[in-house]
Amino acid sequence: MIDKSVNWPGGARIAVMLTFDFDAETLWTSRDPANARRPGILSQGVYGAKVGVPKILETLRDEGLKATFFVPGWTAEHHPQRTEMIVAGGHEVAHHSYSHNWIDPDYPEKEVEEMERGLEALKRVVGVVPRGYFSIKSPRPIFPNSHILEIFQDEFREIYRWGGLYNLVMHPQVIGRPSRIALLREIIGFIRSFPNVWFATGTEVAEAWSAAHDA
Ligand SMILES: [Zn+2]
Repeated sequence: MIDKSVNWPGGARIAVMLTFDFDAETLWTSRDPANARRPGILSQGVYGAKVGVPKILETLRDEGLKATFFVPGWTAEHHPQRTEMIVAGGHEVAHHSYSHNWIDPDYPEKEVEEMERGLEALKRVVGVVPRGYFSIKSPRPIFPNSHILEIFQDEFREIYRWGGLYNLVMHPQVIGRPSRIALLREIIGFIRSFPNVWFATGTEVAEAWSAAHDA
């Protein structure tokens, strides 16, 4: 059997990171700038910010859990109250570029510019200097609602057997829908039915990892 166990705090078998990719409208404007003039398309991102994020924060508060939110600089500037709510909830805000544009590998200086602009926006809007960075590489698939819980459970069970790290990546415009918020609660309850699980933010995982490996 593959043993991918890590010395997590408290002798935990697995670390679980709940991460939310708060792209808001950038997920669509970065694909096609003309989407900025298409309210029907943008409304999905607006929903994620207006309803999805508060619903997620409420669920995390009820569960007593801290999560990591990846926030592009553009999102922080255009949804400052939502970004502040995340910080006020004690969650980690991590860096996720400025505009969420896919970076052409031939122009690495573009990525540097995006990183600096994103950092500057988070610092200015919510006074946060993020410690984690989630690069924009390719569009991520968003799973349909059907069977998502079963897929998740099978995957989690197996990773738990191996030990290590489980990172659940979610998008507020999707997981913030009523049926999906129920799903998020179910997933958390499922994870909690296993002993020795450590829920952690990205920074906590990184710190525990280097503490275990630098020793
Ligand atoms: Zn993203």
